[in-house]
Amino acid sequence: MRITTSAARRRRAGYTAAAALLGLLAAAGSPAYAATDGSVDRVPDVPPSGHAAPAGTAGSAQGAAHEAAQGAAHEAARGASGVPLGISRLAEGAGRQVAITIDDGPDPRWTPQVLATLRKNHVKATFCMIGTKAQKYPELVRAVAADGHQLCDHSVDHDVTMDHKPVAYQRQQILEGKAMIEKAVPGVPVTYYRAPGGAFTPDSRAIAAASGMRPLGWSVDPQDWSRPGLKAILSAVEGKLPQQPTVLFHDGGGDRSETVAALKEYLPWLTEQGYRFSFPARTAP
Ligand SMILES: [Zn+2]
Repeated sequence: MRITTSAARRRRAGYTAAAALLGLLAAAGSPAYAATDGSVDRVPDVPPSGHAAPAGTAGSAQGAAHEAAQGAAHEAARGASGVPLGISRLAEGAGRQVAITIDDGPDPRWTPQVLATLRKNHVKATFCMIGTKAQKYPELVRAVAADGHQLCDHSVDHDVTMDHKPVAYQRQQILEGKAMIEKAVPGVPVTYYRAPGGAFTPDSRAIAAASGMRPLGWSVDPQDWSRPGLKAILSAVEGKLPQQPTVLFHDGGGDRSETVAALKEYLPWLTEQGYRFSFPARTAP
């Protein structure tokens, strides 16, 4: 399993900020630590800034440097489709709303278990799917949509260094990823785009928004992809939650038994806390 080291993330963070500031994003080459072994789904989603807030805490700092480098002026802007260009990190609706997001599937072993757990707890979530996996398991895409969950494009290949690649490549990864999901469920809208690893660029956000997909981030990351143990996942997500949290889980990319076990405890706990489940904010703020 290939995991980006924190040192690599730090190097990347510095590089990302510098590249953005100098306007060199499109010209930047591929970092040496990019996944090249085809195990695209094995790369965890980590904030590109390398300045992740501690697990379970408010994630407003997540990607802050990245965002700052991209320019706050973009945040209030909207694409031609009316979808905001800013990264959504809040659950929609006022009060105690929470948005559950599930990444890196669909997966024949784990997606059905996640779906069953969501169903049992009357929870609708947002599934960020990798295009090649949606193509491979169209019946799972249909099962997700049939249960009333939202669909999110997570790119064709889950290249977490997309923010260093040419715009044409970003466009291909975003739009073909969307098309691969849509092919499995004709007529069902794909309403969000989540950059692999959160590695958004102003261009990728604009491309997604123009295609009707809201750029989607997260505010709570229990690090379930790293299999820290059920207790660690739960202590991360049951801590002090930010307002209207968007929580990141994974149903693909490895053994997700801990994720399934965590959801089985976490979802009833959220309900007990008075939370209601909604989707990430799509059209505002
Ligand atoms: Zn991912």
